[in-house]
Amino acid sequence: MNERFDVVVVGSGAGGGVVAGELAQRGRSVLLLELGPYRTAVDFARWEAKATHELWWPIRFAMPVGEWGPGAVALVAGRCVGGSTTINTKVAMRADAADLEKWHAASGLVNEHGEPFGVADMAPFYERVERYLGVRTRDDWSDSVRTVERGFNALDARLDAVESYTDENCMRLGSCLQGCPTNAGKSTQNTYIQEAWVRGSLDVRPDSRVERVLIEDRGDGVEATGVEYVDEAGRRHSVAAGAVVVAAGTLNTPGLLVRSGLDDPLIGRNVGFHPARLVFGRYDEPQDAHVVYPITSHCADFRHDVDGGFVVEAVTMQDPISFAINLQDEQGPMWGKALVEALRRFRHWTGLLVMVNDDNNGAVVADPDPGAAADAFTCDFQPPELARLDRALTFGRAVHDAAGAREILWTGLLTTHMQGSCRMGSDPARSVVDAHGETHSVKRLFVGDGSVVPRTLSANPSLTIMALATRLADHLHADRNGYLSDLQAAVG
Ligand SMILES: Cc1cc2nc3c(=O)[nH]c(=O)nc-3n(C[C@H](O)[C@H](O)[C@H](O)COP(=O)(O)OP(=O)(O)OC[C@H]3O[C@@H](n4cnc5c(N)ncnc54)[C@H](O)[C@@H]3O)c2cc1C
Ligand code: SF4
Repeated sequence: MNERFDVVVVGSGAGGGVVAGELAQRGRSVLLLELGPYRTAVDFARWEAKATHELWWPIRFAMPVGEWGPGAVALVAGRCVGGSTTINTKVAMRADAADLEKWHAASGLVNEHGEPFGVADMAPFYERVERYLGVRTRDDWSDSVRTVERGFNALDARLDAVESYTDENCMRLGSCLQGCPTNAGKSTQNTYIQEAWVRGSLDVRPDSRVERVLIEDRGDGVEATGVEYVDEAGRRHSVAAGAVVVAAGTLNTPGLLVRSGLDDPLIGRNVGFHPARLVFGRYDEPQDAHVVYPITSHCADFRHDVDGGFVVEAVTMQDPISFAINLQDEQGPMWGKALVEALRRFRHWTGLLVMVNDDNNGAVVADPDPGAAADAFTCDFQPPELARLDRALTFGRAVHDAAGAREILWTGLLTTHMQGSCRMGSDPARSVVDAHGETHSVKRLFVGDGSVVPRTLSANPSLTIMALATRLADHLHADRNGYLSDLQAAVG
């Protein structure tokens, strides 16, 4: 190992991009390793097939445990510098008190005063991220939002403008899922990472697959000493670090930890999907919902479990390929003439995204074999979760119905909000990492992505993941354990 850094960060999405950028801004030497390619606004075009190939993970599925009606959950995530933030819709929602109470109940998470971790513990980190990304209210509603607003009003439900990390250069042409061509959409690539990288304070290596965290016992207990990664040309490298932050995303972090030798049985457990469906309505007038900023409004009336346990976002439209392959009606997936007719009227459809609170019964089944690395994913929704899923679909259909839709179709279950495969908590019997994100079993090894979220949020998760990553960067920089100041000892 002839290279040494204060911190090596694995994965450059909402978690890893923020930890790396924050630490680099403070003068720490940081290496950021990303499996996917480096692409910027000049590369982003509205070419659905190309973008999903270049910037997305191939779609993975969480397979149901046993017999279960609605079938598998499609898992959507980014694989490029910026991770999923490069291809997301940038809605910025905070977790609320009820969400954070669930965290404490799930894993005994407490703050530095020993009190249940709550809103006040997150607030300063949310504020920092919101200020840095320029979060603003999107009340520039399109006609397609006004169409469905009629339905919400008729049902006595409230539609509010969302907050989002998009600036005034947003051209509202709706290609967020293929990368933002104007840089109006703030990913970690065009903010935290790019700023530190061009200033020369951050070393970023795209196309670099981290295969394992290097772990040793040098007489002071088991600790992480660096990582081993393979570059684009297939060359293998080892780098040393005072601390390692794994932020490969909820679906990938467990496999990396297990293939590095961690044997905590909780790794990969308690996965939450925040499962969702798109519910589409076809109207007489063209809606052109594919050429708007995708999500300017939402209804949070049913956000808490006691009120229904779902949030509805409006409006959103899939691009033609995704729309064609996901449509369903009561008979199941559509095909043939009915599908062709639905596609012919593409401009007339507009969509609602109904997202449901789940109870973290999913799993990442990590493959310990480094040669295969064939991780699998399962879902196991229980009756209360299935009831919420039904309620959310019924409500989405009712909104379109009340708004005057001529036809209503929907998709199978999908998610872009996977969370919780390496739970954070103060009780080691119920969590993988402690309240600072350090694994209970290996010192100097931290998890800094959506994996640590102890219970599924009733909100879009990226702002929370970035806030937790900011908190982790503060903790690492403060270096109370001497991991970074003791770098000589760390690299042996
Ligand atoms: C289409 C879409 C729309 C979304 N819309 C919103 C929204 O509007 N609002 C919101 O709050 N959230 C949204 N999300 C969710 C949000 O983007 C994610 O929750 C968040 O980005 C997850 O952060 P993360 O750091 O856990 O993982 P990611 O952002 O997915 O980053 C993980 C990174 O690690 C890399 N990696 C994996 N394995 C390795 C390895 N072995 N070596 C090196 N690198 C590796 C991956 O390639 C990836 O780039 C959306 C997501 C998607 C996909
Ligand atoms: S709608 Fe706005 S944020 Fe989305 S890609 Fe277009 S310019 Fe970027």
